[in-house]
Amino acid sequence: MKEKTDIRNISVEDLQKFCAEHKLPKFRVGQVQEWLWKKRATSFDEMTSLSKTMRDLFSEHFCINSVKIHKGERSIDGTIKYSLQLYDKQLVEGVLIPSKKRITVCVSSQVGCSLDCAFCATGTLKLERNLSAAEIYDQVFILNEESISNFGKPLSNIVYMGMGEPLLNYNNVLESIQLITTEKGMGMSPKRITVSTAGIAKMIKKLADDKVRFNLAISLHSANDEKRSKLMSLNESVPLQDLRDAIRYFYDETNSRITYEYILFKGVNDSVDDARVLANFCKVSPCKINLIEYNVVDDFSYEKSTNKVTENFIAYLEEKNLIVNLRKSKGKDINAACGQLVNKLK
Ligand code: SF4
Repeated sequence: MKEKTDIRNISVEDLQKFCAEHKLPKFRVGQVQEWLWKKRATSFDEMTSLSKTMRDLFSEHFCINSVKIHKGERSIDGTIKYSLQLYDKQLVEGVLIPSKKRITVCVSSQVGCSLDCAFCATGTLKLERNLSAAEIYDQVFILNEESISNFGKPLSNIVYMGMGEPLLNYNNVLESIQLITTEKGMGMSPKRITVSTAGIAKMIKKLADDKVRFNLAISLHSANDEKRSKLMSLNESVPLQDLRDAIRYFYDETNSRITYEYILFKGVNDSVDDARVLANFCKVSPCKINLIEYNVVDDFSYEKSTNKVTENFIAYLEEKNLIVNLRKSKGKDINAACGQLVNKLK
């Protein structure tokens, strides 16, 4: 039997064509779209503004491969990690991170990851597949509902920092952002969205050419090629000079300030000399630096920098007039913090 196509993976033009072929009036396209995105219907039976005959027609030709919550676990600090199940039983993780002023959701873009960064638990899972735009959209939609029911308010920020490298799933990530930001979908501002990349220079330039309006963050972790290559093998094929060129190009085209993510690893990248090369790298364009406390991951040998060393690192950068935020990790006790997402909630 031929597998049905997921209706959310076809273009509006194809949906229009289907409706025309089956003699359905044009306004039905808009109705179906509204059910699929704004109301996130998970079956055609839910589409009560369509007649039973129409719902049967759609079910005969299409399916809706929606995402569902598999499990959730709450940290003592309020962070909630969710394991989300895709139609083919694959699992990805998404995290709700509440703070005084905002509720941030961290979403995944791939099942596993191909990049194998030395400090990241996700990198130990081989890449299984990309998420579709609809699957990424579902994570945000579902976790927005969870945010309302758990914290009494909707999401304020979305970060693409979960499992996977978003720029290696470029089209689906951009399409998901389009759906999240359009009135047809969730109508959120692109300024509330941040895509974080390990530094795929070619695709950063493509983002610039596509004139994206969301924020871009780069997982830098060292501005020294030798050290960065040890932490992130991607640096061997995309060295810092290529990354610099791409960042400069991105800034020139979008006028948008980059955020650097920098995890401090004890004795690895946390000396004042490391801060000096970082400050030098930062001259490429206006930026801010998020220093992140390392979360110990089982089976990894890295350690968290001491408070004194962290203070010295920050002091050096601030002296160079750089904007620095120290990010305390959240959700460590449930393995929901940065670099800890590894589908343990099976
Ligand atoms: S840090 Fe990001 S890019 Fe690197 S292995 Fe982990 S998920 Fe992949």
